[in-house]
Amino acid sequence: MENILEVKDLQVSFQTFFGEVEAVRGITFNVGRKETVAIVGESGCGKTVTANSIMQLLPMPPAFFKGGEIFFNGEDLLNKTERQMQEIRGSKITMVFQDPMTSLNPTMKIGRQIVEGLVKHRGMDREEAGKKAVEMLKLVAVPQPEKRVNQYPHEFSGGMRQRVMIALAIACNPQLLIADEPTTALDVTVQAQILELMKKLQEQLGMSIILITHDLGIVADMSDRVVVMYAGQILETGLTQEIFASPRHPYTKKLLASVPRLNMNRDEPLYSIDGTPPDLYIPPKGCGFYDRCTEAMKICREHMPRFDAHSHSHHSCCWLNHPMAQRVNSADGSEGL
Ligand code: SF4
Repeated sequence: MENILEVKDLQVSFQTFFGEVEAVRGITFNVGRKETVAIVGESGCGKTVTANSIMQLLPMPPAFFKGGEIFFNGEDLLNKTERQMQEIRGSKITMVFQDPMTSLNPTMKIGRQIVEGLVKHRGMDREEAGKKAVEMLKLVAVPQPEKRVNQYPHEFSGGMRQRVMIALAIACNPQLLIADEPTTALDVTVQAQILELMKKLQEQLGMSIILITHDLGIVADMSDRVVVMYAGQILETGLTQEIFASPRHPYTKKLLASVPRLNMNRDEPLYSIDGTPPDLYIPPKGCGFYDRCTEAMKICREHMPRFDAHSHSHHSCCWLNHPMAQRVNSADGSEGL
């Protein structure tokens, strides 16, 4: 499959009063045409910083790129000027945010917000763009689009605002849609409707999607491939069925174990991963999951494991993949690694 996006060894830090925070620490992944790639992980693992790096929406300073490249259609986005990025954002790459109220302009009617993008990026005249805005609202199943196009964001419910955000994001037929927790603030029925809508639109428009979420149910339903992030790094990647059927990294296994099951007893406690992610002011030398891993060995604290392939599409980064790890059965690693 041809790649539309290639992220290579991306490193992003924030300079703060207390020192440098290494938020993204050398991640590499790609997104194919018409593919949906889910980026999963706990809050603070670097998912949103990655998305904002692709869009170049990070405030610089305090953020800065320490290294790496982001290629979109073969062009390095990190070498683009702000003016060039403005041409790409909103037309070729668009983003749907968790809270539409922070990204919709509260003082502007919905229709006008869609029209502005169409006039700027597609060169339409206002009348034509106005008709297209109504069409877009119809496409995302907003009732009475001719009337709603003349309303302000506060006149819409949360679910309807999210639909409007999607209409805004896809109005210019983007090649890549980045959806950052697009349904977190919505109830499950509306969530299902929005996800169904995104799937349908992807089929109709042929776009690629990066889905950022911590909800593994959504990942199973929506994505072709999964990237598992932790402490600013990628720990495992694979096809969705590979990740769900045979996770290899202890962190992925624990993430999957923390999903509530339908057959749970009512008094059975929900599983949660003990401990907290490492402080990225002082990033760990070895595996970032060391302090929370029940299978940790001595080597894990000192040395970062390399990526190993379990199939052409499934990779993980853990010392347990090493053939000698079988001989180690205690946390002090005295018998082997
Ligand atoms: Fe656990 Fe070591 Fe694997 Fe990290 S490298 S996940 S600490 S076993």
